[in-house]
Amino acid sequence: MSYSKLADNMYVVIGGAFPKCNTVVIIADEIVIIDPGCVVEDLRRFLMTQDIQLKDIGTIILSHIHPDHITHAMRLNRLSNCRIAANEITAPLFNNKEEMKRFLGFDKGNPVRKLWERFVDERMYGALDEGRVDEVLCDGDKFNLGEVTLRTLYTPGHLPDHMCIELLEPNLVFTSDIDLTEFGPYYGHPNSSISDFESSIRKLRYGSYDGIISGHLKDPLVLDYKDRLTAYSRQIGMREDLVLSAILEGAKTIPEITANPIIYPSLTNPVFLQFETWMIEHHVASLLGNGLIEEENGKLVAV
Ligand SMILES: [Zn+2]
Repeated sequence: MSYSKLADNMYVVIGGAFPKCNTVVIIADEIVIIDPGCVVEDLRRFLMTQDIQLKDIGTIILSHIHPDHITHAMRLNRLSNCRIAANEITAPLFNNKEEMKRFLGFDKGNPVRKLWERFVDERMYGALDEGRVDEVLCDGDKFNLGEVTLRTLYTPGHLPDHMCIELLEPNLVFTSDIDLTEFGPYYGHPNSSISDFESSIRKLRYGSYDGIISGHLKDPLVLDYKDRLTAYSRQIGMREDLVLSAILEGAKTIPEITANPIIYPSLTNPVFLQFETWMIEHHVASLLGNGLIEEENGKLVAV
């Protein structure tokens, strides 16, 4: 178990890379957990160092509906009877897991739906448990926890429901899956949006935080976040150049582009091929929108 101290009453239990995530713990008027996706035993062991037990958790806040971020929400809810808070887009998805699957592109017609469900159950067990959000949040809503105030900040793109959580004291922001990992921005669902993702990155860059907290880095607190966000954002353009190169070299369809994967280096898992395909589809739409390629009789050609 490893954790990082952000302030006297604020910590991150390190979950690290997908399919885990970093979990923020705030010890104030109540115990607040943001994104319970770290190993639950690590969370329990960390809380013990503070003379707290899992059953003492008062509130869980979810940044968005991805299984790696909501993994233990219902397990902890059953243990502690804590309230679960999520924004107005996330809440109905959490309350109805079939809606969640549809939102993520895994409707009943998706050929890899069963494989994805199995992957979630094996690696993020509990994320598909039925449950209910107790408190529905809107953009800019505040949580006053005595010495600590939290505020929601909508940052769509990764998914339409993605939000960050500002920690007004000590002037930090948990940026969840705007995570500054080497992998780069992830927009691998039909309703992800590259342009919204770029806008959300700009929104964070214009902020005057003392640092940001990544949902997946092993060293979660990033102080030089403005430069890091610029480099992170640049990866989108680099990928788009690779997609354009593939089309210039003769790839005429999305399957022909993904035959040489651009996002994931090796595609042995059909679920990841699905994620790759959705990401490439966003780039192709972007290239079409920018007039750099055209579609003729279902075939992509460079202009
Ligand atoms: Zn996510």
